[in-house]
Amino acid sequence: MTTSAPRPGRPVRGSVTGRPVMAALDLLGRRWTLRVLWELRDGALGFRPLQKRCDGMSSSVLQTRLTELQQALLVIRHPDGSYQLTDLGAGACQALLPLNRWSGDWAAAIDAIPPLVPEDHVCDSCGLSYPYTDTEQAADMLASLPARFRQAVAGLTDAALRRRPEPGTWSAIEYLCHVRDVFDVYTDRINQTLAQEHPVLEPMRNDQRAVQGRYNDQNQREVLDALTEAAARLRALITGITPAQRLRSATRLPGEERTLLWLIRQAAHEGIHHLHDIERPATPGS
Ligand SMILES: [Zn+2]
Repeated sequence: MTTSAPRPGRPVRGSVTGRPVMAALDLLGRRWTLRVLWELRDGALGFRPLQKRCDGMSSSVLQTRLTELQQALLVIRHPDGSYQLTDLGAGACQALLPLNRWSGDWAAAIDAIPPLVPEDHVCDSCGLSYPYTDTEQAADMLASLPARFRQAVAGLTDAALRRRPEPGTWSAIEYLCHVRDVFDVYTDRINQTLAQEHPVLEPMRNDQRAVQGRYNDQNQREVLDALTEAAARLRALITGITPAQRLRSATRLPGEERTLLWLIRQAAHEGIHHLHDIERPATPGS
């Protein structure tokens, strides 16, 4: 079998013109290539020791990769049969360090987004069961929630309304703002899922919203009015959804696919769950 490394200026994977960066990405994106470069970073290695360091990858694949890396001028083969990085090869390793740092930031940004609960979620805290919550029940919850939120904050002083029970826990007004935004965002998400095939949903980024939207400085009456209107809009939307439409789906992060019925249940759950948060401020350690 003959093997050929990508060459700048000639068609490569992802580029008909073979732009140098695309040729480099084609080369470095080949299976095991980065690992081979990495294992050679400290000096020359013979074929078998290199194979061992690469978790015993097959001889034929290692031979193919080494041939490509020699053609690409990143590796040389010494007369004794050992392989070593050239200056270009060492430069490729150096060039990858910023990408390595960036990938750490990327992973952290994804990990910072709390995972979506599963389709069959049962909440330990408020007791809401997704399998036992149908569209009609969710609509009933949305109908009753605004009055329940009004009642929950009716007796609170302004200071109590804005007091965080503990540093990481929102105040009552912040929860009201959050639920208002959840109802608006889920109205958008449901409309998006009805209009597109398998749309990608943008994360809500709750804490960022709370800061940017100055949740804790908002006026109680205005927030309650907006929450009431948002709940009514969402309720009107889900009331018209057919059983077939409930099976449509959307994704958020990779692997997070959820049905439209889940979106309905989740929106109702957020309302119920945070009503409980306001009615029973969290005790430390709960
Ligand atoms: Zn809950």
